[in-house]
Amino acid sequence: MMKSPDDTMPIGTLSGAPQVLLAHHLKQLKLPTVLREYDKVARECAADGVDHPRYLLRLIELELIDPERRTIERRIRAARFPALKSLDTFDFTAILSLNKMMVLALARSEYIARRENIIALGNSGTGKTHIALALGLAACQKGFTVAFTTAAALVSQLLEARDERRLLKLQRDLASVKLLIVDEPGYVPLSSTGAELLFEVFSQRYERGSTIVTSNLPFEDWTQVLDSERLTGALLDRLTHHVNILTMNGDSYRLKQSTSSRRRAVGAKAEQKQAPVEIIDPDTGEITTT
Ligand code: ADP
Ligand code: MG
Repeated sequence: MMKSPDDTMPIGTLSGAPQVLLAHHLKQLKLPTVLREYDKVARECAADGVDHPRYLLRLIELELIDPERRTIERRIRAARFPALKSLDTFDFTAILSLNKMMVLALARSEYIARRENIIALGNSGTGKTHIALALGLAACQKGFTVAFTTAAALVSQLLEARDERRLLKLQRDLASVKLLIVDEPGYVPLSSTGAELLFEVFSQRYERGSTIVTSNLPFEDWTQVLDSERLTGALLDRLTHHVNILTMNGDSYRLKQSTSSRRRAVGAKAEQKQAPVEIIDPDTGEITTT
């Protein structure tokens, strides 16, 4: 077991001056993980009978892994995702029109280095935002800067920035992020200035960075949003030049979940009366009578 220099006190129970001084030095050396963990790791190493070099190695390795994790966490916070979603929680069997292999390939984030775009098209509730969020998270983990926004929020941000004479700065920020996710242009029609500003964002990112757009509107209906044939054509031209299209047509997952839970509730009532009658598969909602 590891002991302190005077061989009477196990490491980790040092008190007073040495700890204070150690904390001070470690802070100065910018080793926050060593500072936070040295006591705990010492106890573990003592319990495992691990010698000093290996103790030090464990501690230093923790410090090495941690900055990377912290950078990823910082990137995720900076992306402003409304929720953290991953592909692990996505049920591909619920949306057969979606090319699973393509999504898994995109999750490797190589399209970002190639500055390609992604458009997820399909009716409401089919998981477009979920997929966009998951790809955004994957990109953060692969080291890319990401920004998530809804089209409506983006446009109001742009209009506000223009009024406050800081539009250029915002446009520069939006152009420099490696992956910009614009969720649902299409829910609200835009003013002509709004449409123009939104178009400029896509235009400034063209061949400079990747953009993911989700929409419940097919391309031919995008003129309704931008209220201009010219702008819509120019925008689609840029967006679809290097593009991966995810087709997501199917039943609304939300709706399916709520009907299957309703059915489950009905099933539970039936069971109370004359048990056991039916077994309902929670995933498929399929009912088997026993
Ligand atoms: P859309 O953006 O296409 O309208 P969302 O991504 O907002 O749909 O999906 C609605 C809800 O259903 C979200 O909570 C999402 O996580 C969930 N969801 C949708 N499709 C799936 C799926 N195939 N597997 C797991 N969860 C899903
Ligand atoms: Mg959505």
